[in-house]
Amino acid sequence: MRMVVLPGDGIGPEITEATVGVLEAAAQAFQLRLELEHEVIGLESHRRHGTTVMPGLLERVRAADGLILGPTSTLDYREGDANQINPSMYFRKGLDLFANIRPARTYPGLPAKLGQFDLIVVRENTEGFYADRNMEQGNSELLVTPDVVVSMRRITRACCLRVARAAFELAQRRRRKVTAVHKANVLRIGDGMFLACCREVAKDFPDVALDEIIVDAMMAHVVRDPARFDVCVTTNMFGDILSDLTAEMSGSLGLGGSLNAGAESAMAQAAHGSAPDLAGQDVANPLSLVLSTALLLGWHGRRTGEVRFIEAGGAIEQAVAEAIGAGEATRDLGGRLGTRAAAAAVTARLTNRR
Ligand code: NAD
Repeated sequence: MRMVVLPGDGIGPEITEATVGVLEAAAQAFQLRLELEHEVIGLESHRRHGTTVMPGLLERVRAADGLILGPTSTLDYREGDANQINPSMYFRKGLDLFANIRPARTYPGLPAKLGQFDLIVVRENTEGFYADRNMEQGNSELLVTPDVVVSMRRITRACCLRVARAAFELAQRRRRKVTAVHKANVLRIGDGMFLACCREVAKDFPDVALDEIIVDAMMAHVVRDPARFDVCVTTNMFGDILSDLTAEMSGSLGLGGSLNAGAESAMAQAAHGSAPDLAGQDVANPLSLVLSTALLLGWHGRRTGEVRFIEAGGAIEQAVAEAIGAGEATRDLGGRLGTRAAAAAVTARLTNRR
């Protein structure tokens, strides 16, 4: 499996280095043939090459079997500067990574204030309220007058159908329940179409139950009784917000693993941002990117039929759970370890497994 590794900004380099250590331990334990191609992205790329994403990088990633992308400080990028592209948008759009898979679960050893749960948010990833990726050319946020802004949301039947299908396929491997999260009471046409697509896809999965919840009420329901949810499918912006909430409910945003999956490519990327408040201090939780990479191994294994990759992904998830259970974790989880030591606690469990 050939992977491109792009560390990013802020805590990106630290958590990426930690993740690569875990990945290499898993490769050794499961005899995976891995080839890692390291490249710069984001502000480091801008410093060295004058652009946040080097020309030709998309093709290199497309030719590989997977991408690990660290978080980037996109809020600091200059709007409208062609050399300060948002890498996350660039790869999601360029590789058509339409389904963003974001699991969240409780762990033994961490306080489960809301009870035990294990759910996945499946978020549409290529359109919706993301003004920077909605248009063939330009941006769908318009300054009409100095005091009037129009931000447009794009919803297409094709994108709704394919993300709904991804959610139902996932639910079939789990507890067979999909919840469509929407705002069809207000966004009657767009979310109405999203809901209609979920219902249409549901007909192909008679063994999977579908229920529907309005997004604002969902914020109450998921906090009140998270155990009732299995796979939650939703549009782009709602999914972004919901999945940060569910990651934090699981113990920390630093546990927010996330896979951006398309038909041909996939990208492991933590759910959180570049956490500039923690950068360079060896305190950030690396497990979000570690768990994202475990998802990428599973994706590759299912795609190629190479079961060892699926097993390696599962073993990383188990090693993470064991390390957390033993209190060998970063301070956001109540532990005392730094970034490197927390990753080493996972690596040791992979190396010593029988
Ligand atoms: P953030 O997700 O970086 O941080 C939010 C909070 O969570 C902070 O308190 C931070 O310290 C904490 N946190 C985040 N990751 C953590 C980790 N691994 N371990 C422990 N604590 C962690 O959000 P923000 O501060 O709003 O954004 C910072 C920058 O990241 C901005 O420039 C933003 O545009 C960018 N961003 C990038 C991505 C991405 O690359 N995919 C996603 C979201 C935000």
